[in-house]
Parts: sequence; structure tokens; C-alpha cells
Amino acid sequence: MDAFALTPPPWTEPALHAFEFRCPKCGETSQEAEAVWINRRSPVFTLDHRRKWQEFYKCNCGAAWWAWSSDRPPNPFESPESDSENEGDDASPDSDLLF
Ligand SMILES: [Zn+2]
Repeated sequence: MDAFALTPPPWTEPALHAFEFRCPKCGETSQEAEAVWINRRSPVFTLDHRRKWQEFYKCNCGAAWWAWSSDRPPNPFESPESDSENEGDDASPDSDLLF
């Protein structure tokens, strides 16, 4: 499955908005999801001029959910597409990586 496909997979249709970046039904994290689709076609600009977009996850429990990419907690095991232009001016989440 292509996470960056142009058309949304059908399982994204009933997706629930998750506010804590985990499955709102069973609480599984995005790393446990069996499928992911990222809506990179329509990024939204936040007030501080960052881009965010919807990330859809299909959970093992059968629920589908989505959350804003900006709400994703830092995760050292995931390698996000190199998309870190213009970061580091203010308190960016990346500063959490400096121990
Ligand atoms: Zn679930």
C-alpha cells in the first residue's frame, strides 16, 4: 500500500479524528496501525507558518482514525520524509532530541 497515494483508500472514509494521536477506540499507537495514508495533497498552514496535514491510520481493531501531522509525538523509530526545512527558529519539537 502506498501511504502517499493520490486518492484516499476507502478505509479512510469513516475515520475518526483522534486528538491524542492514537486509536480513539482501543488506544493503539500509530506504529501498530496496519495501514497508513497521508493526505499530503492538501496541507494546512498553521498560525506559525508550519505545514500540517492529515495522517490516516487503520488500526488493528478495525477502526480508522486520523490526526494532524503536527500532533504526532516525536518518535525515534520512525524516519519521517526529510521535510525539515525552515525549522529550528523557535522551540521546535526537535529540541526534545537534545538530551
Ligand atoms: Zn484500535
